[in-house]
Amino acid sequence: MGTMLTLSTEAQEVLEEYDSVDSMEQELVRLEGLVSRVRSRQVAIIEAVYHLQVPHWDGTRSLKEWIAGRLDLQPRNASDLAVLAKAESGPIRDSIKAGVVSVDRAAATTRLANTGASDEVLDEADGVAVGQIGRLAARHRRMAPHDEAAVFKMRRLWVQPNLGNTRALGTFDMPGADAESLIAGLDRRADEIINPEDPNRPTLEQRRLDALVSLALDATVPATGDSVAPRRLKAHIFIDATECHRTGGESGAITRSGLKVGPNTLDEIFCVGETVTTFIDVDGLKAVRTDGDRLPNRLRDYVFFRDGGCTADGCTSRYRLEPHHITPRSQGGTHEPDGLTLLCWFHHHIVVHQQGFTIDPESPPKRRRFLAPGVTRAPPPN
Ligand SMILES: [Zn+2]
Ligand SMILES: [Zn+2]
Repeated sequence: MGTMLTLSTEAQEVLEEYDSVDSMEQELVRLEGLVSRVRSRQVAIIEAVYHLQVPHWDGTRSLKEWIAGRLDLQPRNASDLAVLAKAESGPIRDSIKAGVVSVDRAAATTRLANTGASDEVLDEADGVAVGQIGRLAARHRRMAPHDEAAVFKMRRLWVQPNLGNTRALGTFDMPGADAESLIAGLDRRADEIINPEDPNRPTLEQRRLDALVSLALDATVPATGDSVAPRRLKAHIFIDATECHRTGGESGAITRSGLKVGPNTLDEIFCVGETVTTFIDVDGLKAVRTDGDRLPNRLRDYVFFRDGGCTADGCTSRYRLEPHHITPRSQGGTHEPDGLTLLCWFHHHIVVHQQGFTIDPESPPKRRRFLAPGVTRAPPPN
């Protein structure tokens, strides 16, 4: 408190009218009872409207949706009224009619009763805060075998490209136990491939997706983990040569599946070199096919032998090690051994090629540090 606010005229009148805070509180509670009685009348009208199937004829999908639309209520509040209108008349409905319990409590208790909770549980609900009743209901909600089967039958992983084909959006629907395994597995995988101490560690949600991608990658092209060059899925990309030159690479390239990739991914594709690129010229009729300028196996093996593991300072990951061109191929980087450094999948794919960090050329060859995107040299030591 302590701050003096300019009181509204109504609040000033309240202060003149009541002689104590107690009497103000009593009035507040009395008014809440009035709200309950008004709501109780609404619930009765809604029940009648529902009986006449008005929401159905109005073309709404549910009673809740109809109430939200007609009364301009939040879905949660509309849902409360719908639950009460559909409930058997009885002590709960009577108590809001009498104004002795709030609509919130009545709706929460009705939901709890709908789970088939025993009278003892319902008595327990009387003694807890309204916010806790939902938790009681979740604990007592029954799941019949056919409910469980229905949830399982609904399972799906839905992925769809956006309008510009520049990203894929997705969502999933699955049984709780499977979701728990999924999340636990993704979190474990993320901890295996991303050092928890790494300053560039992505957020939890990002790490889960990175883990999922890495698992999918392992399924398509198993990682070998040793110095033998891991096979990669040969990327076939299509580039409009004229547009690419005109926009400095920002026109991007199209993958076989029709998704668009930008200059960062192009740099990575050229860095790894395991690619078939088809340049399409001005009129799009002649396609020039180029096989990727892949790092020769001998040189690849030499970089594995020389660096021994990920050269990022403090990284111990050996997951999908990949020689990286310190100067991007698109900026004239060559296969000179001094211009190559071995990086794990997290540092190569995520930190460098997707987050846009570059390798500080001043950093020691086996303890590489990264420069933030757009920074060309490290700040002088303090
Ligand atoms: Zn690279
Ligand atoms: Zn690393």
